[in-house]
Amino acid sequence: MKFDRLKEIVEDPWGTLGEMKERGKKVVGYACSYVPEELIIAAGAHPARLTGTREGIRLADGHLQSYCCSLVRGILEDGLSGRGAVLDGVVFPHTCDSIQRLSDIWRLNVKGGFHLDLVLPVKLDTDSARDYLVDVLKRFLSDLERALGVEVSEADLRASCLLTNEIRRLLHELYMIRWRRPELLAGADLHLLNRAVGIADRNLIVETLREAVADLGADGARETTKGNKNILLAGGMCSTPDIFNLVAEAGGRVVWDDFCNGGRMFLEPLRLDGDPIAAVADRFLSRVVCPCKHRGLTDRANHLKALATERGAGAVVFVHLKYCDPHAFDFPYLKAELEKTGIPSLLLEVEDPLPPGAQIRTRLEAFLEMLD
Ligand code: SF4
Ligand code: SF4
Repeated sequence: MKFDRLKEIVEDPWGTLGEMKERGKKVVGYACSYVPEELIIAAGAHPARLTGTREGIRLADGHLQSYCCSLVRGILEDGLSGRGAVLDGVVFPHTCDSIQRLSDIWRLNVKGGFHLDLVLPVKLDTDSARDYLVDVLKRFLSDLERALGVEVSEADLRASCLLTNEIRRLLHELYMIRWRRPELLAGADLHLLNRAVGIADRNLIVETLREAVADLGADGARETTKGNKNILLAGGMCSTPDIFNLVAEAGGRVVWDDFCNGGRMFLEPLRLDGDPIAAVADRFLSRVVCPCKHRGLTDRANHLKALATERGAGAVVFVHLKYCDPHAFDFPYLKAELEKTGIPSLLLEVEDPLPPGAQIRTRLEAFLEMLD
């Protein structure tokens, strides 16, 4: 399967966004999957997920302690270095503390473009959360309209909801094909697609995913059976494509992932009837929760246990960015809950980019050997 164009885009996101600007497209950068792409697309702009830098972190260290995660430090580095100057604006949601502080530091130190904070509810299971969230999203849309100098119609919103739903549907289909026949699509390619989904033109994404599903789908009839060394990867934002290869090289097989730029992106489609803003709010309230949000004490553990069972995973490998507190706080209870169901787990703490893999490889090999 050839994803050459998407590979180029992922390897040079700023060049790609610069080309879009030259073609007259407005580009809006955003941190974290709790920003509603639908609203940005409906406003005629291109949403670009900020995923940290590939260029080494120097400037950001003057503003953020080295014990902030490499994602937040990398995003700031791109802003301070001037690479982010291509952005017409940025959006930061209230999720983890690091992203909230990143927003403040960006506002004070990175010049140019508009700056919006999206103050989402933390507790998602209260009666007032939905009303509040719908209000916040409506205000966000009018802020976007003002900043971009456009008016968004309900038809624009419906079209963007259809587009993002189609991407979710196709990604889910591709995950299912790979789950049935892992040999058809390398894990690193799947990860490449997931990264590209946040950067590339969304119509190119739809086109590429449709082609991939058409090419691979006919061959995908077999069911994956449960296996000790079938691995479910879990964590936050993952920029480490090597992790798929490392698991394979250590003798395991990644059957699914629960990353926020992976399997957690597509599980819940948007409702397409009624008010589109309310549909976006409902999706945020019902989607698989990230540890920066709260919807009951066992929600996340229940999700992981069900996912591992459904996908025939014998073990879970957590991939956390170093110094990510929300995920680190969640880990002990998730591990204990998985153990109660007989599912062992391993925690890998990584940085982006991943340092030479020797230590991770050894830990994975030891873990997978133990699964025998
Ligand atoms: S893990 Fe949660 S807070 Fe962090 S980037 Fe993903 S969705 Fe956002
Ligand atoms: S990795 Fe953790 S600390 Fe960093 S942005 Fe995501 S949730 Fe926040």
